[in-house]
Amino acid sequence: MNARDTLARIQALPAPLRPIRVLNVCGGHERSITELGLRSLLPDWVQLIPGPGCPVCVCPEEAIHQAIQMALLHPLTLVAFGDMLRVPVNLNKGEANSLAAARAQGADIRPIASPLEVIALARSLAPRPLVFFVAGFETTLAPVAAMLAEADLPANLFLQLAGRRTWPAVEFLLQAGSSFEAMIAPGHVAAIMGANEWRFVAEKYALPVAVAGFAADTLLTGLHAVLRHALRHEAALDNAYPAVVKADGNPQAQALLAKAFDIVDAPWRGIGSIPASGYRLTSLHAARDASLQFPVAISGHKRSGQMPAGCDCAAVLLAHKRPSECRLYGRACTPESPIGPCMVSDEGACHIWWRAGERV
Ligand code: SF4
Repeated sequence: MNARDTLARIQALPAPLRPIRVLNVCGGHERSITELGLRSLLPDWVQLIPGPGCPVCVCPEEAIHQAIQMALLHPLTLVAFGDMLRVPVNLNKGEANSLAAARAQGADIRPIASPLEVIALARSLAPRPLVFFVAGFETTLAPVAAMLAEADLPANLFLQLAGRRTWPAVEFLLQAGSSFEAMIAPGHVAAIMGANEWRFVAEKYALPVAVAGFAADTLLTGLHAVLRHALRHEAALDNAYPAVVKADGNPQAQALLAKAFDIVDAPWRGIGSIPASGYRLTSLHAARDASLQFPVAISGHKRSGQMPAGCDCAAVLLAHKRPSECRLYGRACTPESPIGPCMVSDEGACHIWWRAGERV
């Protein structure tokens, strides 16, 4: 069924007495929803809520601080995804408070767009150490795991990991008391880990959940499925992205992830520590752990749960506030002059809403 017909079916659903709030986990979904203007096309009783799926936004301050210090204090080159360079952290006046600021102070920090660039760059720089600062979800960690499986990986390549798993963050929100009645699960993550990874939302928390892709047809199909179930008070898992997502995902990619990384409890900026939500290099790759090879002193930095003063990014990530409800949105905080990480990243809800013309 095409997107227009699916939208018509949603519009024809009977209005409930109370709004139905649908959480989308992924920054890519939030961007599609906003750019397609879905909120203005759906019935008033459907509320689409952005959630915690912005890896740059949830990267702990101390991990960024560590990367900054590593690049400033050791003779090495550090690479990170482009939007990570501008994320501000709270440091003392005069200290470099972002990777971009550290670069301005002379550190060799370079943006990359894909993990595929890293091996060639490491070879071109050898023997100078190259540290890859990895922030991302399963979709980023899978290609990094594949990279680690390469036979002739350059000896000068090291990793600083701030990778996170998606479903534990959703379970964390649900255990804290859900502020939504249905959810859309991220299609690209499910392509790797499988649609079944999201079954717990239906079976343990009795909420409808649908895996969806990023185009209008799959997104609306997923929305129609969860709204229909929510109206009937049913809990079910639907796969609205069957061309890409299989029930059990991609076993080869999962095997690579398991060989490269151990699962550990991990801090999320704005949220705090979430059990089994992070990755650590397995002992097989411990020699490539940049934090062991290039130690820096950041012991006084314990702000993983915090955002800059006045910034409601944490509440946005926890689906408690809409971006435009932040007092700083569009006033003190814009993409050109961001205060919190949600206004920096392409996957940050504040950035997406502002770029789409949402004004207060
Ligand atoms: Fe934080 Fe800026 Fe978003 Fe407000 S608008 S929540 S200050 S990132």
